[in-house]
Amino acid sequence: MRAHALIFLGAPGAGKGTQAREVATHFGIPQISTGDILRDAVKRETKLGLAAKAKMEAGELVPDEVVCGIVEERVSEPDCRKGFILDGFPRTIAQAKFVDQMLAAKGRGKPLVLDIDVGEDLLLKRLMGRQTCSVCGEIYNTYFNPPKVEGICDKDGGKLLHRADDNEATIRQRLEAYHQQTQPLIEYYRGQGALLAVDGNKEPHEIAKGLLDYLSRA
Ligand code: AMP
Repeated sequence: MRAHALIFLGAPGAGKGTQAREVATHFGIPQISTGDILRDAVKRETKLGLAAKAKMEAGELVPDEVVCGIVEERVSEPDCRKGFILDGFPRTIAQAKFVDQMLAAKGRGKPLVLDIDVGEDLLLKRLMGRQTCSVCGEIYNTYFNPPKVEGICDKDGGKLLHRADDNEATIRQRLEAYHQQTQPLIEYYRGQGALLAVDGNKEPHEIAKGLLDYLSRA
């Protein structure tokens, strides 16, 4: 894989986190999820967490300066030297321009962008049924991929949590934010000629296989 930076685009529930995790493990590069970093900050009640909490609970985007600052700091860590995956970032045109500048400043080429496309009915089920292991971050779904024992991670016995913003009202707002602010990025990256459209309606393991095959040759 030649691209230094991979970007996972897609609506909430499209499977960005699940697929980014597979790719990160396979290629041994870090997965940088702005959502995970923000949730951790909220849990620890840091200054960042306190600033982001209300927006996240409302299903709205956190201001660009805040998330760009998080990403800038994270990608300067040594484990990102070989490359990295941005999962859930950028989500606005301003954030995408920030990534372009950041990569140029590091002497890197354009990012490779994977746009995971999923029908709206499936998105809702993925979000309503999503559960995440509080220890290892493994993602389950009560409809499609339940754990062997309810509420417990198959891998490490960790407690499974349902995200506070995976409720119907907040999901609607998050999808609205996606359509208004993030979807225009598809055209932005298509213009740069490095966009791969991924059919996210298939089974997660099938999507992962296709992606890994593609990236191994890219
Ligand atoms: P996610 O886990 O990616 O669904 O993100 C959860 C929430 O964190 C979003 O609904 C936003 O409030 C916030 N967030 C995550 N990434 C970004 C981003 N790149 N820009 C703005 N807000 C973000």
